Amino acid sequence: MNISQRVKNLVPSATLAIGAKARQMQADGIDVIGFAQGEPDFDTPGHIKEAAIQAVRDGFTKYTATGGINELKDAVAAKLKRDNGLTYARNQVLVSCGGKHSLYNVFQALLDPGDEVIIPAPYWVSFPEQVKLSGATPVIVQTKESQGFRLNREILEPAVTPRTKIIVLNSPSNPTGAALSRTELEGVAALAVQRGLCIVSDETYEALVYDGFQHVSIASLSPAAYAHTIVVNSMSKAYAMTGWRLGYAAGPAEIIKAMDGLQGQMTSNPTSFAQRGAVIALTGSQEPTHQMREEFAKRRRRIVDRLNDMPGIRCHSPEGAFYVFPNIARLYQKRYQGKPITNSTEFSAFLLDAARIAVVPGVEFGNDNHIRISYATSMEHIEKGMDRMAEAIAALG
Ligand code: PLP
Repeated sequence: MNISQRVKNLVPSATLAIGAKARQMQADGIDVIGFAQGEPDFDTPGHIKEAAIQAVRDGFTKYTATGGINELKDAVAAKLKRDNGLTYARNQVLVSCGGKHSLYNVFQALLDPGDEVIIPAPYWVSFPEQVKLSGATPVIVQTKESQGFRLNREILEPAVTPRTKIIVLNSPSNPTGAALSRTELEGVAALAVQRGLCIVSDETYEALVYDGFQHVSIASLSPAAYAHTIVVNSMSKAYAMTGWRLGYAAGPAEIIKAMDGLQGQMTSNPTSFAQRGAVIALTGSQEPTHQMREEFAKRRRRIVDRLNDMPGIRCHSPEGAFYVFPNIARLYQKRYQGKPITNSTEFSAFLLDAARIAVVPGVEFGNDNHIRISYATSMEHIEKGMDRMAEAIAALG
């Protein structure tokens, strides 16, 4: 049987692949420290779990409305008002099976073959693949390490053509952690409004920002920015709910309606009792999220210092998320087991082999001079992993 060309063209998720390899090594009794995973190492807060358990006990186990229960749409709208100063009605909100699913719905609802989507690199691996699945073309623009990988209008503008339909924004970013200031966002919004482009703003990591950085949603900048933006967010990272598979999108009613129609033919509703948990997550105490953020802040400081202490490594301290994206290119041409290391894939393989730490090669995110290290792991693992990495690097020929 032949597999479709569309699926054959997909690049498998390297993040998942490396995680799987590391898990296999662990299952084989090898002590691998995982820095590849993109999920908080914290448990889902108890009050959220209790709400879902209670929902199951109450028999809330049937189909719901495709785009989520009204209670959850209202909780999403209240969150967007409270945290982002945004006003949305119920018919402007759609709940899906993870932020990834929300994004997929957006691209499928808006894009036709021939359309172009501008994606700033380094990018989260699923953006270009999801755009390709819609038949449209990803157009990659490079941000600069010297500018902390932050995006601005000057980087975007030369890539806009008459076929451009969407600009993808991901602040704070996976994989760099870079988050955009109000001024930078104003430049992006002005460009989108002037050229009639849609902004897909993935704000999955908004709750995880450090050193007093204030997250701003681009949709909140002006009525015009609001009209041009679809905000996408996720329960996964802010509430340690990765396995629950819940995300949401908010934007113009006609786009949300189109996405709802699509979702109705794909997955129907997100899991009923998980939605009840999400209501409590969004409307209940935000203290567990604040505590997670405090812990991530300590780890970020430590891991950036440890990396910058290693000869040949340069690590920018990012504004948000739980990743660092160090430059490792000065170590290229060093030899491991007699062979020169020439790229981020070989460097990551060397780290897995020599230091027994799992990281993700930067090439997967569109920059081959870097690796992505997730600090969503304990301080003890960070210290041990960085000790091993420093030792392995020092032993390179
Ligand atoms: N957007 C970004 C930038 C991400 O890193 C992720 C997950 O890694 C998602 C969206 C999707 O998260 P989920 O589908 O778990 O809600």
